[in-house]
Amino acid sequence: MAPDADVLIVGAGPTGLLLAGDLATAGVRCTLLERRAERQGLTRAFAVHARTLEELDARGVAADLVRTGERVGALRLFGDARLDLSRLPGRFPYVLVTPQYETERLLEERALAAGAEIVRGAEAVGVSQDADGVDVEVRTGDGAPRTRRAAYLVGADGVRSTVRERLGLPFPGHAAVRSVMLADVRLAEAPAETLTVGATGDAFAFLAPFGDGWYRVIAWNRRHQAADSEPVDMDELREVTRRALGTDHGMRDPRWTSRFHSDERQVPRYRAGRAFLAGDAAHVHSPAGGQGMNTGLQDAANLGWKLAADLRGWAPPGLLDTYHSERHPVGRMVVRGSGALLRAVLTERPLPRALRGAAVRAATRVPPVARRLAGAVSGIDIAYPARAAPTPSPAAAPPTCGSPGSGPAVRGAARRAVRPGRRRERPGRDVPGDQALGRPGALRRRRRGDQHDRARPPRRLHRLGDRRDGARPARRRHPRRAGALVRRARRPPRPERRP
Ligand SMILES: Cc1cc2nc3c(=O)[nH]c(=O)nc-3n(C[C@H](O)[C@H](O)[C@H](O)COP(=O)(O)OP(=O)(O)OC[C@H]3O[C@@H](n4cnc5c(N)ncnc54)[C@H](O)[C@@H]3O)c2cc1C
Repeated sequence: MAPDADVLIVGAGPTGLLLAGDLATAGVRCTLLERRAERQGLTRAFAVHARTLEELDARGVAADLVRTGERVGALRLFGDARLDLSRLPGRFPYVLVTPQYETERLLEERALAAGAEIVRGAEAVGVSQDADGVDVEVRTGDGAPRTRRAAYLVGADGVRSTVRERLGLPFPGHAAVRSVMLADVRLAEAPAETLTVGATGDAFAFLAPFGDGWYRVIAWNRRHQAADSEPVDMDELREVTRRALGTDHGMRDPRWTSRFHSDERQVPRYRAGRAFLAGDAAHVHSPAGGQGMNTGLQDAANLGWKLAADLRGWAPPGLLDTYHSERHPVGRMVVRGSGALLRAVLTERPLPRALRGAAVRAATRVPPVARRLAGAVSGIDIAYPARAAPTPSPAAAPPTCGSPGSGPAVRGAARRAVRPGRRRERPGRDVPGDQALGRPGALRRRRRGDQHDRARPPRRLHRLGDRRDGARPARRRHPRRAGALVRRARRPPRPERRP
């Protein structure tokens, strides 16, 4: 059977949409299958962290997204403990509070503009693969299932992933929290802070604005643990919010309510032959820390350029396997970190509660510790072992990719092909995002042998001025810079920032 696309993606959530945009931008034929006939107007995620904003910036989407939300420069953790984000390196020293549907809208517009095919009302129900490709059985509302074939498949179909299940992959883990109440309400009195959070031993409440007068409430009541199917009672929601925050802010006019539970789970392998898992399909945890969507978007950013490199014949053997070796540890760290935060927030024992507050207060006041915490929460400190990333073959690379033998330059060009956006790292200096990410000299602290994703442009780039055309070969436009690339590339391997 002839392939319908180079890559089939199942699931048009944030993960699938970013990936579709990257692949289409790189000229890869990709089709995104989405079970829902319409885009959803509901939101789950609110927090978009600095690292994700850098990834979106490299794709030309960050500025529009930032305009939809509110910037929060510090997170209130427990009581009066504050984690300052304003000293994060880069253009985004804050967490952006914006509804998930805004992120999805912008990513969908980008994917469509780049030529991705998005098929709504198409549910993946079966998966099989052979040495050359993957077949996905797709059910649409108007007829018998039809089979679509592609060279690769990515399951970005969320926590109940059909792709994961059809591949026979387990999803080990455990329940984290149940009977969490959600409601979209109006408030008579606006809270003083953009994000409001509070917890006693038996109550938790969190408020976040949509920016249009509506607020999302997330609340949890230890004294009443109900099934997900039980409706949310507004009196209970007000009472729990008062216990956790001291006031219910005059909560009224609920337009939507729901209950949910969260698990902590991670699939042991992100790759099975020609199929990959990304986002919630690969890892899930509670919303504590606001990491789920961010981690999924970063999975997609890591996988997209590797699939494109493989399909275009630039990838060295093993490049696709680095998706698992790089992203699985990050997923594990996020699942563990979010779980630890959740347990710290919900603990009812007085001593751990008191110690927790004191420890976090002390930690956030010690600059190096606070920097590490901010780096972890924002994703800025994520780094990959250098050994995990083979260098694309110079012989197979297209002629515009850089100097022969300059492995990292070739790698940079592969990424440049999927991310043509601009990055403004310092006031007055715009540089193509992928140069900033792909330059081998731009390495920063942390362990020896780690590769950094951190999007800080190399100093040399500033000296030589802006480059606005990421597709041109470096040698033609800036001979000195190209030379610098070659010299650096011949040095022993050093850590490198990558998506
Ligand atoms: C209350 C709450 C608050 C949260 N807050 C944050 C936050 O602040 N920050 C953050 O980063 N994360 C947050 N999260 C997590 C975040 O919402 C998820 O991690 C994110 O939506 C995952 O994106 P995804 O694209 O991987 O999956 P999803 O968003 O679940 O998208 C999967 C898509 O696949 C489709 N699909 C499923 N099965 C099939 C099939 N068989 N065929 C075709 N299509 C299919 C679905 O319809 C869906 O559109 C929160 C979650 C909750 C519940």
